[in-house]
Amino acid sequence: MFRAPDIGTEIKTSCPYCGVGCGVIAKRDANNEVSIKGDPDHPSNFGRLCSKGSALGETVGLEGRLLRPEINGQEANWDQALDLVAQKFSDTIAEHGPDSVAFYVSGQILTEDYYVANKLMKGFIGSANIDTNSRLCMASSVAGHRRAFGTDTVPGTYEDLEKTDLLILVGSNLAWCHPVLYQRIAAAKADRPDMKVVLIDPRRTMTADIADLHLAIKPDGDVALFTGLLHHLARQDAFDFDYINAHTTGFEETISAAAKLSDFETLSDITGLSSEEINAFYELFLKTDKTVTVFSQGVNQSSSGTDKVNAIINCHLATGRIGKEGMGPFSVTGQPNAMGGREVGGLANMLAAHMDIENPGHRDLVQRFWASPVIPEKQGLKAVDMFHAVGDGRIKAIWIMATNPVVSMPEADTVAKALKDCPFVVVSDVLGETDTTAYAHVKLPSADWGEKDGTVTNSERRISRQKRFLPLAGDSMPDWWQLAEVGKRMGFEDAFNYGSVSEVFAEHAALSDFENAPGAPLPERDFNIGAHAGINEEEYNDLTPFQWPQLKGFEPETSRFFAEGQFYTSDRKARLIPVEAPAPLEYTPSRPLILNTGRIRDHWHTLTRTGRSSRLSQHIAEPFVEINPEDALHFGIRDADIVQVENAHGFILVRALITKRVDQGQVFVPMHWSDQFASRARVDTLVSALVDPVSGQPALKNVPVSITKYQATTYGFAVTLNKPENPPSDYWAQAKTEDGWRIEFADLNSDLSIQSFAQNLFDVPENTLNNISQDTQWLSYGDGKFGDYRVAAFIGEKLIGLLYLSSSPVSVSRNWAIQQLGTDHNNPLQRHMIVAGRAGGDRPDPGSIICSCFGIGSNQISSAITEKSCRSVEAIGQELKAGTNCGSCRAEIKQIIDQHTPIAAE
Ligand code: SF4
Repeated sequence: MFRAPDIGTEIKTSCPYCGVGCGVIAKRDANNEVSIKGDPDHPSNFGRLCSKGSALGETVGLEGRLLRPEINGQEANWDQALDLVAQKFSDTIAEHGPDSVAFYVSGQILTEDYYVANKLMKGFIGSANIDTNSRLCMASSVAGHRRAFGTDTVPGTYEDLEKTDLLILVGSNLAWCHPVLYQRIAAAKADRPDMKVVLIDPRRTMTADIADLHLAIKPDGDVALFTGLLHHLARQDAFDFDYINAHTTGFEETISAAAKLSDFETLSDITGLSSEEINAFYELFLKTDKTVTVFSQGVNQSSSGTDKVNAIINCHLATGRIGKEGMGPFSVTGQPNAMGGREVGGLANMLAAHMDIENPGHRDLVQRFWASPVIPEKQGLKAVDMFHAVGDGRIKAIWIMATNPVVSMPEADTVAKALKDCPFVVVSDVLGETDTTAYAHVKLPSADWGEKDGTVTNSERRISRQKRFLPLAGDSMPDWWQLAEVGKRMGFEDAFNYGSVSEVFAEHAALSDFENAPGAPLPERDFNIGAHAGINEEEYNDLTPFQWPQLKGFEPETSRFFAEGQFYTSDRKARLIPVEAPAPLEYTPSRPLILNTGRIRDHWHTLTRTGRSSRLSQHIAEPFVEINPEDALHFGIRDADIVQVENAHGFILVRALITKRVDQGQVFVPMHWSDQFASRARVDTLVSALVDPVSGQPALKNVPVSITKYQATTYGFAVTLNKPENPPSDYWAQAKTEDGWRIEFADLNSDLSIQSFAQNLFDVPENTLNNISQDTQWLSYGDGKFGDYRVAAFIGEKLIGLLYLSSSPVSVSRNWAIQQLGTDHNNPLQRHMIVAGRAGGDRPDPGSIICSCFGIGSNQISSAITEKSCRSVEAIGQELKAGTNCGSCRAEIKQIIDQHTPIAAE
């Protein structure tokens, strides 16, 4: 059942990162080395991959893997572990009822995993307490779709983003978060320069590179901006009344609610945009029929996220711009299988196959299909409430799969405490040590990407296979198998007796088709892949990417929804939803800044996968806070200082990055760093558990904080061959390099002993320092007046560690120092240059890495511009190859070129 394909076989699978859902071709060799390339036949990426996708082969090693089940820290076999999980869950349910247990799953697991988890919890345990980390990602889009369309349907396709005349990106940094989609759009715009792109985002992200207009909106100003747009369209008589009358309800109430935002002065106050900017945007929308509005986490991760979604959808419904080529609202998901989770009901407020848990007809249908003993009548606990219930003891047993809530949940320290106090915690993961597995009574080793089989659905409703090309590591097993085994051990043998993953998919497809046709007792449902209900294992293995719906017996005429109405409400009409702008944010003297959180280009979630790749750690290796120069001045913070960002929930320590990318009054911190990679940088410890009242999605981008300079008196930077286990300082952040590790430090203590510090870091035996042998050499330098100390240790010709300490941030070139680890050092002069921190003429400093694929740094790009007159991204590509593989760095290369371009005098 779980045999890996032969060595050397090319396997078509899909990328496990973002919601673009790119096709990947993977191949392993006899040493289990994996080569990766984009699948030219996959309709989502046509062969392209971004930096993360290209580096997938570097993330599949066994380092850090959980290879055997563990019970209370002791290795166990599967029978022992599964029996215990089944017994504990059964006992807890028997004593405290079905709502005393919960599953917290993930947009990383496959649809088949999700299907079995949802079936076990809702149909057999009898609770709806299953929720997913997708709640943190796109729950507001789901809620907005369901309010407007009656179901959770993304109407359009990626092709619409290329064929539109006006592309509006709201709260979406596609260049870094959905890079291949960004590249498709950039290519379309290069082909058709008349295509306009508007970016609506408080930050000037890399996506601004392709924007004709960037609106640096105030956080949560989106409802006002789009409601004002609706009013503007009304004033200009720009509605499509044929569409409105035939296919919508709620028009009058929605327009009259929008009238409250009729003047630009009010809009300007709420959005922070000038009247000219607002008018320019409104006129573009007014005059451009083919319009697509893309939205993602900047819209969803808000206490008004669902209203934002409906404010956007209202404008598209009222103009009839939906379901046609190049038109429509378009939600982009963050995770690879957030959509698959939605399709099987992996959210606490949904039932399987896009059905509604509060609809008695749907409950009856699903229960009959599953032949299940129970089905809950009410919604379960959504993510934030679920962990509150763990904390206050209502939930006494929880099973967490493929996610790291101790890093990613709001008030993350409270989540850690809740898990610590929970009587029974099961964690299924590929890694043994994460911030969350630390609280597990039972750890179950899961199959990693490359080892498991199943399907995922991307943001355009395209279902693709994820396929095994590696053998299972150790005793690891797929998540669906773990769940089915526990289901059987809980007494539900018949319902969970799957012989293969293809049987799970076939059942999921059959449920989507069950009583789902014109003439059936209940209204038709959007999600239908009945064409695959009878799929066998061979057909499943040959399944090529397809978009739903795929009905049994006939081909749909279009892959889009709603051009002709036919919404999934009782009267088949869409709902225009009156929405109101939320109250403006409150800045208080004690918390004068608004914290925004998000992703960076080359890392993913909590670094459990991308942190294993040295290539992906080159671009940005340390947690940081972006601060506007005015705020930095005001708070006495200089570039590269360590900064304490805090509020009532806690504090984090991160490096200051002073930039105009963020407006005054705002700061930005990436979401990725966990306790495994930094001393104190879990940014979600600062996020309060404030949620959108409709979707339950937390407001992760709108957090009042204060910042202060951390009064470090010692700063350090080191590279070492060995991973430092307990870096000995208050602040540290470490990342993998090609030949070892790099570590940044800061400490309040100015009296650190460099010798013991270095010894501890480099992991060399005691007394080696004074034991200069032929093979071992320590070189050091100290300047007490300026607090500068440096030490380098060599064994043979290899540098094993290099440490710089200083009373101010260390300014040595990181990439130059990192390269020294992998270089032979037989020249005494060179060894002294290393201690001095200076690049010799024969080893120039490449600068900070911009192109991860070819390891090209900013200094190299600058030299090509100034010395070789390379004035375009293409010219840089020809000269250095930078930007010619995955293309993820092209926006940054252009920015460097722009910085070197003289501005003409006015
Ligand atoms: Fe993976 Fe990058 Fe494609 Fe997203 S854009 S699916 S991360 S290759």
